[in-house]
Amino acid sequence: MTMRVSIMGSTGSVGRSALSVMAHAGSVSEDPVFSIDTLTANSDVDTLARQSITYNARLAVVADDRAYKELKSQLAGTGIEVAAGADAIAEAAARPVDRLLAAIVGIAGLRSTYSALKAGNSVALANKESMVCAGPLLKRVAQKTGAHIIPTDSEHNAMFQVLERQEDVEKLVLTASGGPFLKTPLANLHNVTPEQACAHPRWSMGRKISVDSATFMNKALELIEAAYLFEMPQQRIDVLVHPQSIIHSLVAYRDGSVLAQLGSPDMKTPIAHALSWPERRLPTDVERLNLVDLAQLDFLAVDDARFPAIRLARQALDEGGGAPTVMNAANECAVEAFLNGRCRFTDISDVVEAALGDRSLSGVSAGDAASLDDIIALDAEVRQRSGRLIAEASLRTGS
Ligand code: NAD
Ligand code: MG
Repeated sequence: MTMRVSIMGSTGSVGRSALSVMAHAGSVSEDPVFSIDTLTANSDVDTLARQSITYNARLAVVADDRAYKELKSQLAGTGIEVAAGADAIAEAAARPVDRLLAAIVGIAGLRSTYSALKAGNSVALANKESMVCAGPLLKRVAQKTGAHIIPTDSEHNAMFQVLERQEDVEKLVLTASGGPFLKTPLANLHNVTPEQACAHPRWSMGRKISVDSATFMNKALELIEAAYLFEMPQQRIDVLVHPQSIIHSLVAYRDGSVLAQLGSPDMKTPIAHALSWPERRLPTDVERLNLVDLAQLDFLAVDDARFPAIRLARQALDEGGGAPTVMNAANECAVEAFLNGRCRFTDISDVVEAALGDRSLSGVSAGDAASLDDIIALDAEVRQRSGRLIAEASLRTGS
């Protein structure tokens, strides 16, 4: 049976991996496996147009309005519909499909994720920031419409694969590769460059998530993502550094069993699982594990002094309400500032900590009952103050 799929953020790292999973599945099958409904991008019109033609999409949407004309002209005569703007992306996410892959980066992906679930579309969720900022809201709307949320972030997909009865779970164990600076001397951390931060030892990813991996903020966001996805208190989620990234996460049960999911560190496996769940029918060309060659797997505890992010995530979850949104927004702004040379690497977690400590900000929260508009307003408020928070953090470190 042909599956109809839309990809929000098809030009990014996850989006491109998903298209390659689909192309591979199509190439080894006699029947068409997928048909593409919608592909979207922020502003990379050339890639979006090329993908839309190659994969025979019905609709291509670019977020940046200024790129509309160019997209229209590149797709002229193809019969592919064209639209532009954030509203158009949210509307496109509501078109009926068998599965929608949410692969936009940042809270920019929230509206389309919400809109898809509200329309009853099952969502393969890579866009962790939408779960971090709006976990309870997204779970509520999915429950109402019967749409499934299939975790696609590799760790959450791993847990989802080995999760049996939720009530029998003792602990979730989230694994972390440790990123590029696991062993960098502490004194050198404030001088690292964006290029060094983006050179991840195991995974090839977009720039924002690469910086997040280097600060451990990625694992911090994933801790919040896991708490909401699996409705688990943070005290029952452990974080374990596992540099080889072969075990993608574990679930410990009350009978003493611990179930893990293993595989090569390649997003194509969780994407293939999330696209075909509850089946496992998509073959991938991912490198197969050779345990004899690997010989050894290592595990370490997280160094909280070096990377305060995990502690901040636990604090945000304990505080609840809008705190995870505050944390996420401050991080998005600080990462952008770091990538543009406006602050140092070590300022990022200082900015997040300062935002979380800003009482007037967290007070804006509407608790777990927050609406989409509440969350977007809180995010906007943090962004407005972030310039000042970043300047203050830079002053303290003398950058
Ligand atoms: P990326 O930067 O490579 O791609 C992001 C995509 O989002 C692009 O298609 C871009 O055009 C689009 N986009 C960016 N800003 C937008 C905006 N304002 N409006 C609309 N579209 C916008 O990012 P990525 O590495 O593919 O990550 C995507 C998401 O998946 C992130 O939430 C990330 O945390 C998550 N994730 C990524 C990986 C990975 O291996 N890359 C693994 C797990 C989870
Ligand atoms: Mg992950």
